[in-house]
Amino acid sequence: MAPAGLPRRIVVVGASLAGWNAVRALRAEGFDGELTLVGEEPHLPYDRPPLSKDYLAGRVDRGRLDLTAHDDVDALALDRRLGIAATGLDLGDRILRLGDGTDLSWDGLVVATGARVRRLPGTEALAGVFALRTLEDADALRADLAGGPRRVVVLGAGFIGLEVAATARLAGHDVTVVEAAPTPLVRSVGELVGRTVAELHRDHGVDVRLGVGVEGIEGEARVTAVRLADGTRLPADVVVAGIGVVPAVDWLDGSGLAVDNGVRCDGTCLAAPGVVAAGDAATFPNALFDDEVMRVEHWDHAIAMGAFAARRLLAGDGWDPAERFAPVPFFWSDQYDRKLQSVGRIGPGDEVELFDGDPAERRFVTVHVRDGRVVGAFGMNRPRHVMRLRGLIAERADLDRVRTELA
Ligand code: FAD
Ligand code: NAP
Repeated sequence: MAPAGLPRRIVVVGASLAGWNAVRALRAEGFDGELTLVGEEPHLPYDRPPLSKDYLAGRVDRGRLDLTAHDDVDALALDRRLGIAATGLDLGDRILRLGDGTDLSWDGLVVATGARVRRLPGTEALAGVFALRTLEDADALRADLAGGPRRVVVLGAGFIGLEVAATARLAGHDVTVVEAAPTPLVRSVGELVGRTVAELHRDHGVDVRLGVGVEGIEGEARVTAVRLADGTRLPADVVVAGIGVVPAVDWLDGSGLAVDNGVRCDGTCLAAPGVVAAGDAATFPNALFDDEVMRVEHWDHAIAMGAFAARRLLAGDGWDPAERFAPVPFFWSDQYDRKLQSVGRIGPGDEVELFDGDPAERRFVTVHVRDGRVVGAFGMNRPRHVMRLRGLIAERADLDRVRTELA
């Protein structure tokens, strides 16, 4: 039994990676009160990374996406409200409003509603135009690509765009990637890496068009072409928009929670008394990076923050404020036979040092340095180096130390 003042009725909103890891952590920490999981999607939590990779390629089936596969779901004793969206929050009276007209009272709340994909405006009625965020999105794209060799035009050379391009190309489709910026991925991995990733796609026969915007999409019932700002007309059977996401926090309008590019948390994942947030939907100041306020849209982060937020919620006022959520962000991306991995915070003004390997061989490590400190690293097919660098970044290592340790 928890001491008075600590939550006895917790609602987790968002039944995906961050929410599921919060649920698991709450029970693992001994929370034995009422636990409700609310999710807009009708499914139990499933994993998104395979949706642009092995699942899209047809190499793994639906069962492999299940995030609950290794859990005894019944033992978690959850009140599951799946297929129902949260529509409003009353912080004062501690009421959560649901789309089916019911209200839930809570004394602990986890906000884990993630992000919503941007879709190409004006193309809703046009067959052959896709975005990719959910299982249904992946099923629709997978079915369409299975219909025969397609001319695929990918808009946006971010992670979705590049992973879909690689998967579609390996399946034998004719693929063009269009990106408005002169180099892809610059904001997340820097210029040198971005250029190398563009070349990796060209190696595999993808037509990568950089520094050009999209003027319009043509087609009556089904897409037929993409018009570019430089006058080019790209014939297309399939268009995939990989143009980013926005945090899914509109349902919190008017709730009194601070929302600013996501739910604003303090350095311990707390958004308000009795309310924590985690994953793609949450921003927080990261003590490891001079309290830079960040919102991190990656898998590993949603797991770690979901679990941390759960512990924070259970501790109430007994939490030691010195214990901060201060991760070294990490992501990976699989494209062709290359594993891309990045750790830390890579910024535009960083000095970049090539550490090991050679971009021309598509096998290398870069280390990113700011004010003498190593703040980030990227590796292509260099997993051991990247994981070692993650530890060194957590220890605020300078470049000399990194050179010595990796020598
Ligand atoms: P989400 O996964 O977005 O889940 C939020 C959940 O909340 C959703 O189920 C949503 O329906 C629900 N929800 C939203 N609003 C409401 C509401 N009002 N009421 C109730 N429920 C609501 N990251 C990597 O690091 N590496 C990868 O290789 C990688 N690949 C990816 C591939 C794809 C195709 C995608 C889409 C993402 C990929 N990611 C990858 C990113 C990673 O999957 C996300 O960072 C992660 O899913 C975030 O988890 P989350 O729980 O915070 O949010
Ligand atoms: P992203 O990585 O943010 O990239 C979006 C790309 O589209 C950027 O190049 C962006 O350019 C461009 N863009 C933005 N608005 C546009 C517009 N209106 N028209 C044309 N281009 C536009 O997002 P994403 O690739 O769509 O991925 C969606 C989410 O899934 C992200 O959270 C991502 O982290 C996650 N995801 C992660 C992985 C991974 O980690 N391996 C894999 C797949 C998906 P600017 O940068 O110039 O704005």
